[in-house]
Amino acid sequence: TERLLTVEQLHVSFHTRDGDNQAVRGVSLHIDAGETLGIVGESGSGKSVTAKAIMALIEPPGEIISGTIEYKGKRLTELSEKEWRKLRGNEITMVFQDPMTAMNPVKRIGSQMIEILRRHRGLSKEEAKREAIELLRQVGITEPERRLSQYPHEFSGGMRQRVMIAMALSCKPGLLIADEPTTALDVTIQAQILDLLKELKEKSDTAIALITHDLGVVAQVCTRVVVMYGGMIMESGSVDDIFYRPQHPYTQGLLRSVPKRAGERERLVPIEGTPPDLLNPPQGCPFMARCPHAMSKCAELPPIYTLGPGHRSMCWLADEEAKTQ
Ligand code: SF4
Ligand code: MG
Repeated sequence: TERLLTVEQLHVSFHTRDGDNQAVRGVSLHIDAGETLGIVGESGSGKSVTAKAIMALIEPPGEIISGTIEYKGKRLTELSEKEWRKLRGNEITMVFQDPMTAMNPVKRIGSQMIEILRRHRGLSKEEAKREAIELLRQVGITEPERRLSQYPHEFSGGMRQRVMIAMALSCKPGLLIADEPTTALDVTIQAQILDLLKELKEKSDTAIALITHDLGVVAQVCTRVVVMYGGMIMESGSVDDIFYRPQHPYTQGLLRSVPKRAGERERLVPIEGTPPDLLNPPQGCPFMARCPHAMSKCAELPPIYTLGPGHRSMCWLADEEAKTQ
């Protein structure tokens, strides 16, 4: 498999009056061509900030403090804004939680799509229109011709997300970053959008980074998972590693808080406590204050242990000696 994206030792901070909020603290991950990587964590875990850093969308008071991001051997962290404009929306695209933020509310869907198709694919106006119709059809929007002349507010939330996915995939990007693409939608529509992503995935070579707080979403579409907490990666592995052999207490806690079936909420066990204050992050394991297995050794930052092929956990429990100290 071809290595598409490599993030190494990424640190991102937001400068505030009270100090630096260290939102991302040494994240290293990779995405291979064509795979679907889930990046999971609670809000404030650093997952969205990581995604924004990959897209070079961190704006002041935010700043990439250190680390490298490479895409197909190119250092993204060293590209100019001009070079980025060629890449963003073309080779690397993004879908957000609220598609409205990425749409122009006073322009018809058709002209927005046609503009993007002309700009990125160099199509004529006629070709772009035909392609827009085809794209809408592909994402399951009926009467696409009529839909083109409508405004974003005339589409339901789920429909808008379909349009965004159609637009994001229209340029056949190498990488699609989807940040909580279904969070704002109700459960039925959520399932439809995930099915759509899966279906489109099977037809293309686009790799997907799916950012979500919902492990249920990950189980449905991802092949590999990275679990984030307190700006760091706690555990990473295949979907099977994470769901059947979770080693990190935070992953285990997350799994206990996921409904097995819709409506099973009453059996869920939320993880007690609150995430660490990233203005003053703990020196040791970030999960220590909430971890049921915390021991004295955990006041030191654990190293990353390899538990099996591609399966890693940043927790002292993987260390027999640490447990006896
Ligand atoms: Fe819990 Fe310690 Fe592992 Fe952190 S390192 S998750 S506190 S056992
Ligand atoms: Mg977010």
